[in-house]
Amino acid sequence: MPAASWGAQRSYISDNNQAVLRLNSGDFLGGIELLKQSLDKLPGDETIRANLRKAYLAAGLAFLKRKDYATLEKVMLEAQQFDDRQRNFWLLRGHALLRLQRYDEAEVDLVQARGMGEPDAQLLYMLGQVYYATDRMSEAFDVLESAALLDSQHQEIGQMFDKVRRELAVEREMDKEYGGHFIITFDGDENSDLGLEVLKTLEDIYNDLGSRLDHYPDPRVTVILYSRKQFAELTRSPDWAGGLYDGKIRLPVGGINRVDERVKQSLYHEYMHVILRDIAGNNLPYWLNEGLAETAEREFGSTESAAFPLGQQQAKLFSLQVLEGPFRNYRGQQVMLAYEQSYSFVHYLIDEYGWVQMRELLFALADGLTISAAVDRAFGIYGVSYQSLEKNWRESL
Ligand SMILES: [Zn+2]
Repeated sequence: MPAASWGAQRSYISDNNQAVLRLNSGDFLGGIELLKQSLDKLPGDETIRANLRKAYLAAGLAFLKRKDYATLEKVMLEAQQFDDRQRNFWLLRGHALLRLQRYDEAEVDLVQARGMGEPDAQLLYMLGQVYYATDRMSEAFDVLESAALLDSQHQEIGQMFDKVRRELAVEREMDKEYGGHFIITFDGDENSDLGLEVLKTLEDIYNDLGSRLDHYPDPRVTVILYSRKQFAELTRSPDWAGGLYDGKIRLPVGGINRVDERVKQSLYHEYMHVILRDIAGNNLPYWLNEGLAETAEREFGSTESAAFPLGQQQAKLFSLQVLEGPFRNYRGQQVMLAYEQSYSFVHYLIDEYGWVQMRELLFALADGLTISAAVDRAFGIYGVSYQSLEKNWRESL
């Protein structure tokens, strides 16, 4: 063996050992980097190639476990470029893209993985989620049915299949209108232009609220206009609910034939939820989520905003801490108070400190801060805290 090749061989062994050490210690990217360097020196070496393949897979599984989907997506793209015949690389990247809500790309990778081996319930379940999120309900039904047959013990698959089956039964009879940022599903019996009118209203709302928070969600939002009865049956919402956003906007307004003031307000309310979810995920206290939705509904969606006087209710008011949790189980006057208070406090914040600080608060929550720490970051420069703001607001009533 010539001397130069000996040198490469020896450094490969030490690089390879180094790489294994790094991988074992959890430094996947460092290990991958070393193996790539070794492969540059000895491009034909099957052992290095096999180790790199294993390293990519180990890295993928580790990032999946950490829920670090952005890194997972990048590393798996690199892995595919290294070896595009590994089903797991497509599956893992598809999984990451699904969680990142990059549905069109997720579909490409998952469909690719689907064609590379035996039917797999988990894969079909993910594909079902992509179809569901992009409002292709029949496709979602088909793959979820297959997934449920393959793994009848999997609770989540069974539940989702059941949900899609029930929703599809209702939606099958309805019409659709497709726009740039929204897909509207509606009953066009009375007025076939209703979908188009809703779409136009929503595009205005998209710009109006988007510019206020300087945020324009990317994935197309599905909006379904149900009758009261369908809405109650499908969503199991409390009877006072005027709408719902659970990844799709669902409104109980069936039977209408034009977009009236009430529908417009509901669309403002629910679309604010869309923006907030897109910014901060689930790290949103209910008072903030509902307070901003009510602000959108009353101050943007309506010409007159009637606020309920809370001043005489002081003794009955909820603490903000209580209003951080869901309102679902409230009844009667409690519901009204919870919404009124949320609106009143959010209105107070915006009135005193403006939308820029409100945006700051939302993005602090997006970073995973607690509400108290997020308030410190957004409003701390004014010398106030979560507690003192609550006190000041109460005194202002
Ligand atoms: Zn709401």
